[in-house]
Order: sequence, then structure tokens, then C-alpha cells
Amino acid sequence: MKSETDAPPQIFEDTSGMVDSPTGVDRRSFLMRSAVISAAVLMTGRKLTPEAQAAAAAAGASKPQVPLSSSLNVVKSSKGPVMTTVEEFYKVGPGPSSSHTIGPMRITYDFYQRCTKLPKDKLNQATALKVNLFGSLSATGKGHGTERAALAGIVGKEPATVDPAFLDDLAANPQQTFPVKLGDNTFNVSLADVIYDATKGNFPHPNTMTCKLLGGEQVLLEQEYYSVGGGFIEWKGYKPPKKGQPKYPYATMKELVDHAQKNKLTIAQVILANEVAVSGKSEAEVLAFVDKIQNAMINIVKSGLAAPAGTLPGPIKLKTKAGDVYKRALEDKFQREQGIGVVSAYALAGSEENARGHLVVTAPTGGSAGVMPAVVYALGEGGRKAPKEKISQGMLSAVGVGYLCKHNATLAAAEGGCQAEIGVASAMAAAMIAEVMGSPPQVVANAAESSLEHHLGMTCDPVAGFVQVPCIERCAYGAVKAWTGYMIASNEIPANRRVDFDSTVTAMALTAKDMNPKYKETSEGGLALSVTLC
Ligand code: SF4
Repeated sequence: MKSETDAPPQIFEDTSGMVDSPTGVDRRSFLMRSAVISAAVLMTGRKLTPEAQAAAAAAGASKPQVPLSSSLNVVKSSKGPVMTTVEEFYKVGPGPSSSHTIGPMRITYDFYQRCTKLPKDKLNQATALKVNLFGSLSATGKGHGTERAALAGIVGKEPATVDPAFLDDLAANPQQTFPVKLGDNTFNVSLADVIYDATKGNFPHPNTMTCKLLGGEQVLLEQEYYSVGGGFIEWKGYKPPKKGQPKYPYATMKELVDHAQKNKLTIAQVILANEVAVSGKSEAEVLAFVDKIQNAMINIVKSGLAAPAGTLPGPIKLKTKAGDVYKRALEDKFQREQGIGVVSAYALAGSEENARGHLVVTAPTGGSAGVMPAVVYALGEGGRKAPKEKISQGMLSAVGVGYLCKHNATLAAAEGGCQAEIGVASAMAAAMIAEVMGSPPQVVANAAESSLEHHLGMTCDPVAGFVQVPCIERCAYGAVKAWTGYMIASNEIPANRRVDFDSTVTAMALTAKDMNPKYKETSEGGLALSVTLC
């Protein structure tokens, strides 16, 4: 029996070794920074005295404060201000995965273009073209149609213009061969030329692939590529293209919001000014592109809603449900429930189009491609009836959120799990809603933060390697959570929010680093293991 003097169970962390918060520094912030610095000490192995930790915590006004491991790919590319442009970010292409479908197609298309530039005497020796897939591309590529996407690129198909029927036909008749003309030479390629290679190894990126042009046994040209998420591609020795300098340089949300507030601009206006400066395009050209993407998103939702009920491709034999959910949501006599049902149906519609391998927009990826279209449609003709121009402004704010997640964390599930896909998509959509509703910049940032925060740690475990379970329903949750993020952020006092967007992105990067590889688009854990297909 315990005596009354027994020590109580230790529920709260022992802080006896901690130094009190310095005068003038908010205690809660001080304690939070101390905890983050302690975590950083653990990660880096650097020892700090309690006093040094206290000094660092007191000084930590600029975010992000946590030194990230240099082994994290997202760190290597996060130098200087954001330089991504809207045309690089929103890419139209076939589903189901931006990193496993659009990226590989862009890679093999790029390689074929490089081959055409070889001297004629080399080209005349060419007899074969081989593609090897490694890491996550190899582990889950079959479920994503990676081999078909890679072959399509070799034979000159580009993601934005490929007819999904070509890919469907290739799936139905996988033995087809296609002539490749290089110089005076023509040789055939087929799916057998795309090789599912090692899934595990010390690859420069989880989504690594190599392309080789062969002349008999001799390698005439070889290039190592990386599909780095969101349809972005890089290669060994990659140097980012030369661009103009942004008018309002920023690498954090704090800097982005500061620019907006100091110049009395919206976040969207800051992003637009930077697009013009970085890309060299006119405002009208940038806005015309965003309008085109908005139309594509609307059409994706409409196509998904109109598609006859059926079974999606693959071994899961998953039934479509967007049409049913939409119809039943409209019949709901309670308006609020109807709203949630309708937004969910729009997201299911977009995501089912992705699962069919039809054209989608990376926002930021294929797996998450149901989220932004659902909210775009719900803000416009499918709901609030906001003018298209206003929604385009929202899409610019959204892209700013996506840029920052790419810049300071990751968009690749193979690197960061599903938080990097659905989490980022939801944060982008939340920022878009806030912008369209006329919220001030801090509320736009807070809405994005709220939505991203509540996706932190989300793993990627697609069943059978197909972007269907949990992905399709997860898009619906991402879209609804975007509205939740906006509702909370727009109804609280902005300055009272204690978690800022940059800290949340840092948390996402740290979580990405620590996440077990089983949960990074390898289909080796979670639902991919627990769900039994029969
Ligand atoms: S679980 Fe999430 S990250 Fe993984 S494929 Fe599905 S949508 Fe993408």
C-alpha cells in the first residue's frame, strides 16, 4: 500500500535544470524555444549549457530556428529566396502521381531530347534505350504506372498534352512496341526497356532513375535523374535555371507577410510581382496561365462528378463514390452537413480522375490533386460563386504557401510522407480561401498554418502501391480541413496565434527526417500492410 508521502507520478517534465525566462521575454515562447533547441541539440549532438540554451532561446526571434540535418534533401535546396514560378509549380499531367508519373515522363522526354543533340555518328550506332527505376520509384512504380509514363516520355509524349487514352491502351496492351528515330537509325522500345531496379540502396534521392542510350553493349549517353516531387525533376549536376531576382525576396512566411504588410499589398499581389520579376513574363501572361490552371481544375471536378460509377483500375477493385456522395449531399436537409458533403464529393471527384490516370494538376502533387480543385470549384461555380479573377488571386496565395513548403521542407511523399502532399495541399487551399474571402495577410498565413499543423506526421502508405487508399478519401479530408483552417484563423485574433507557419514547416521537415522509410511511399507499412486484398 502506498503512503500519503509517496511521490506522485511524474506527469510534467522535470524542469529543475532549466534557467528562468529572461526579463522581457514571454515565458511560453521562451519555454517553447528551449524545447525546440533541446531537440536540436539531440539531433545534432552539439552540447549546450543550460545558460547557452537560454540565451539561444531568448535570441530566437527569427524563424526557423532549428538547424536541420544537411542530409535532408529539402535542406540542400533551401538556399536564398524562393525562386519557384507558378508555371513550374502547377503542372498539368496524367495521374496518379506527380513524382511517379509526371516526373518520370518529363525525365524520359528530357533524355530523349538530349539524345537528339548527340553527334550523328553516335546516333547512328544507337540500338536501344533503357530506363532503370530505383528506390520508391521501383517499390511503388507499378501501382503508379511509372513504366508506362516513362515509356510515353521516350516516344515523345509530354505530360500536359499526352492523351490519357494512350496510357490506358498501353496498360491494356503492354506488349506494344514503338519506333524511336535517332539520326538515321530507328529502333523499337517497349515496356520491357523500363526496368524496376533496386528498391533499397544509398540513392541520391528516394526517387532516382537512370536513362541510357546504348549502341550494342556500349553506353552512348547516360544520365542520372531525380523526380523530386510535384512533377519537378533534377539530374546529377543539376543547376537551377538562371532567373530574375524577386521584387520582394522571401524565404519564410514571416518575410512574405512583412512584404505584404509594409507595402499594403495582399499576399497574392506580392507573389504576382515576384512572378513577373523572376519569370520575365508580364502580369497578364502570369494571370492567363493561372486562369488556364483554374479552368483545368474546374474541368477535373466536373469530369469526376460526371464519370459513370465504376471500379478504378488496379487490384484493390475500389468502387468510385464521388457521384453518389455528391447526389446524397445535395439531398441533405441540413445546410452545414450539405456543405461538407459537397466539398468532399468535389475532392473525391478530382482524386478519382487522378486514380483513373486522367489529366490532373499538381497542387502540389498528383496524390493530393483532389484538394485544390475541390476548393476552387466550391469557391466558384460549385458554391460561393466568387468571381474567377478573385479565385485566381487565391491560387497565387496558395502557390506562395506551396513554394515555402518546397523551399523549407518537401513536397515528396518519398521524403516526407503524406504530410508533404495532402498537408501542403490543404494549407494551400486554406490560404486560397482566406485570400478569396478578403482576409488580411496574417490571416492567410494563419489559415495555412492551421491546416498544415493538423497534417503533421501523416504517413504515406498507399495500399498495393496504388494512389487510391487512403489517397482518394484523404483528399476529401484535406479539402474540408482547409475550410476548418480558414474558419479558425478568420475567427480568432490573428496576433493571438501561438504557432506560426514557419515553425510548422520546420516541424514538417524534422518529421520528414525522422520518419521511418516504411511510411514514405514504399507501401511497406501502415494500411499497405494491414489491409488484405482478396
Ligand atoms: S498516402 Fe498521401 S502521400 Fe501517399 S500516395 Fe496517397 S496521397 Fe500521396
